[in-house]
Amino acid sequence: MLEVDHLDAFYGPAQALFGVSLQVHPGEMVVLQGLNGAGKSTLLKSVMGLEVQTRGTIRYQPPGDPGSAGVTIQGWETHRRAQAGLGYVAEDRRLFTGLSVRENLRIAARGPAAAVAALEAQALDLFPALKSMLARPAAHMSGGEQQMLAIARTLMTGPRILLLDEPCEGIAPVLVESIRDALLALKAQGMALLVAEQNQLLASRADRLLHLVAGKVRGS
Ligand code: ATP
Repeated sequence: MLEVDHLDAFYGPAQALFGVSLQVHPGEMVVLQGLNGAGKSTLLKSVMGLEVQTRGTIRYQPPGDPGSAGVTIQGWETHRRAQAGLGYVAEDRRLFTGLSVRENLRIAARGPAAAVAALEAQALDLFPALKSMLARPAAHMSGGEQQMLAIARTLMTGPRILLLDEPCEGIAPVLVESIRDALLALKAQGMALLVAEQNQLLASRADRLLHLVAGKVRGS
């Protein structure tokens, strides 16, 4: 579904990724690990078309179209990748802190009202803790609650693959468990997940772990 082949990534002249290859299939959770600066965020940004220049191949095949070989997306703008089914939650979450939980969810959604309502109901079922704070400004939520909202907001775009940058970092263990359970529920529904994460509560449930060391996949 997502296939990254010999990916190099650059910030201007500085190279951050060297020949990284990986695959993520529907219903699979692949966890990226590595020290600070190893290139985890850069890999997610490369797949999403943000900030970095890349060389190599990034191929995406929407599920439900098994006959197609997938499309090469690395020349695409970020919004086109999002429309094609790639959902991304940045490390800093990028919420609208002055807006309420419900407004943050609705602002991400496109399409007819009934479809938006259905997506919202699904997202809230996954994160029931958000149901009691729909009118609350995002600024008045804990870090873990904000992280749930950031994931829920991305789900409002109807993604088929989720790219998550350290969703459990700095979050209370009980909320880490909620986030882990929500991600496992999505996985069981066929979502593909590529997650940069050191937290073992989540990493221990990965289908595959990929260790990045200084911009390279260890062992490759
Ligand atoms: P962290 O957990 O600290 O976010 P990471 O594994 O996600 O670490 P990256 O943020 O991808 O690592 O960084 C990989 C390399 O790219 C590092 O050498 C970093 O200094 C460099 N880098 C990251 N962002 C930029 C940027 N905007 N401009 C220049 N270099 C950058």
